[in-house]
Amino acid sequence: MASCVIPVPPFDMILFGATGDLAHRKIFPGLFHRFLVGQMPPEGRIIGAARSEFSAEQFRATLRKSLLEFAPSATKNKAKLDAFLALVEYVSVDAKGPRGWDKLADLMRPDVVRAFYLSVGPSLFAPIAEQLRMAKLTTPDARIVVEKPFGHDLASARALNAELGRCFGEDQIYRIDHYLGKETVQNVMALRFANALFEPLWNSQHIDHVQITVAEKLGVNGRGEYYDRSGAMRDMVQNHLMQLLCLTAMEPPSRFEPNAVRDEKLKVIRSLDPVQPGDFARGQYRGDGDQGSYTEHAKNPDSTTESFIAMKVEVSNWRWAGTPFYLRTGKRLRAHLSEIAIVFRDPPHSIFPDGEGRRSNALIIRLQPNEGITLRMTIKEPGPGGMRLTDVPLDMTFAEALGQNAESADAYERLVMDVLRGDQTLFMRGDEVEAAWEWADPIIKSWEDTGQKPALYDTGSSGPEDSLMLMHRDGRRWREIGS
Ligand code: NAP
Repeated sequence: MASCVIPVPPFDMILFGATGDLAHRKIFPGLFHRFLVGQMPPEGRIIGAARSEFSAEQFRATLRKSLLEFAPSATKNKAKLDAFLALVEYVSVDAKGPRGWDKLADLMRPDVVRAFYLSVGPSLFAPIAEQLRMAKLTTPDARIVVEKPFGHDLASARALNAELGRCFGEDQIYRIDHYLGKETVQNVMALRFANALFEPLWNSQHIDHVQITVAEKLGVNGRGEYYDRSGAMRDMVQNHLMQLLCLTAMEPPSRFEPNAVRDEKLKVIRSLDPVQPGDFARGQYRGDGDQGSYTEHAKNPDSTTESFIAMKVEVSNWRWAGTPFYLRTGKRLRAHLSEIAIVFRDPPHSIFPDGEGRRSNALIIRLQPNEGITLRMTIKEPGPGGMRLTDVPLDMTFAEALGQNAESADAYERLVMDVLRGDQTLFMRGDEVEAAWEWADPIIKSWEDTGQKPALYDTGSSGPEDSLMLMHRDGRRWREIGS
């Protein structure tokens, strides 16, 4: 049954940071793509805002170039590209001073949805919100979108929530975690709550453990100095991996509605046990021939920041007690891969000879590459020679199974449309972010206090030896990265 797409109302999107990297690589291409597929109403306008002095015409010329580079469909649709650019205005504003705000106010229309997208460094989130409030641009259905990082720790996240809260209601604040915009991540909810098959098994009675891996092949080159102030725990675990854990572990919400979903995710975060010092492994990648090491990229030979982290996390509630979640993420690993692997318990009694080709059943949800789902099953190996068992994948790659319908919109594209529609389901609520920092802070503090240096690992490996040991000592092993 085809479902209807909720229309996008007439809007003014004010994109702060319009000259920046994220705006040009992701946000404008995403908006252009939605325009191409006809999801943008004719009354939609985008007002780029940044410090640089450009006329609207000059800005459109720059934007044309970057759309031709970052939105592949632009080259084939030049007329549409012109029509899209005609919707774009530009204003030069200083987030920290009075320049430009009057002009911005003049450009904005009274009776349309206002979406202020802050694609700027986090130190500008509060000043821009305050300028908007002072300029009286925050109408009741205005919304503000903020990029990660949302805080550096609990104290800074609380301060930021309070500062935004002075200018906008919680129902107007959209904190982006672009992982939640990924098609397959939303599919975790569809898989769990739209099928009767898995939910009866989705608990510690039937699931031995869960592995969540987000592995990157690239290092931190180019943004090493920024990354060195953050590290894998702050940059990836506290937000992206935490969201994946929440969607996997949460109770079914009563409805697919923003607060019902976010209430359940919050309960998961609040059920997390503190992570013990022996339950995590940190690493830094070594150099490899002409490729520099982490400390070279970070320009900090004494850096104690991790480019890799693996950890064992316990969710202390009735559903999950006794089923650990192992999280792992890092740079410069063997492959670029993100997946959630649900590893089931073995049958209580085996009638077949031990060790005959059997591996535990597992459901693997692949977020990238080749988005899809694999169910690892045991069957009889075909042919004569007695009852020999073998392990086979029931494999569904969305692109193959769903053809062009699987052509997935970029996560940003989807999230920006949700902002305009006023749907907060896929955005983090303030209390969720704070709870995640509340859990992460003591873990980070435990290694900051001791000045613990991460173990070194080879480029192209699966991370440091300690990470393997984290699993081995529990009688388990990681799935191969890139197998
Ligand atoms: P960027 O390339 O450094 O761009 C920063 C933008 O902020 C520029 O447009 C700049 O305008 C504007 N700006 C700086 N100071 C300003 C001021 N005082 N008043 C008004 N505008 C000012 O940064 P980015 O990479 O696009 O990142 C933007 C945000 O997204 C950051 O919070 C980042 O952490 C987050 N993020 C980025 C990525 C990514 O892939 N890039 C991914 C995830 C999250 P001028 O150029 O005119 O000075």
